[in-house]
Amino acid sequence: MQKLLINWLKKVFSDSHSAIIGIALGSLFAGGTGIYFFAKNLWNVLTYIMQKPTPLWATIALVFLLGVYIYLKNLLLIQTFNTPQDVKNFIFTQTGIYKWKVIISKDISFKIDPTPFCVEHDMYLMKFDQGYRCGGSNSGKGCKAKLANNEYSMLYDLANGQAEKEIRNKLSKSHTTRC
Ligand SMILES: [Zn+2]
Repeated sequence: MQKLLINWLKKVFSDSHSAIIGIALGSLFAGGTGIYFFAKNLWNVLTYIMQKPTPLWATIALVFLLGVYIYLKNLLLIQTFNTPQDVKNFIFTQTGIYKWKVIISKDISFKIDPTPFCVEHDMYLMKFDQGYRCGGSNSGKGCKAKLANNEYSMLYDLANGQAEKEIRNKLSKSHTTRC
């Protein structure tokens, strides 16, 4: 099945200019079976293609693949998030007008709830096809908290980094007071 797919891709991308993309796509499908590996390989392929001179259609294909990558990454975040059993505490970390619930386990590992909150309305954003938005309103007008999928990925990563730093700072503080 994979061989067939690679041959087909080689045919489709047979002109010399786009052969690189064909081979890259082939290795992408052959590289892994799980969705995680697929997303990871897709990212490697994207970064590789981005460094090569490509015709216009390839650029369009690239943008499409990037969309697929962001979609898969967001899907992964939601699928891999399960509220841990041994929850110790939770904090919020804020990125602009959004905040994220950070669940801290007893072993001090942490997980971020993939659904962000609107800071202004203090409630979960709602998921829709293109991302997340707040259901709250300000005197009849809709809330400005709207997160597109690409922006979402970026803010999620930022929240992750912030959470790690905040937890580390808290730990070092509590350690100092104990001494
Ligand atoms: Zn809101």
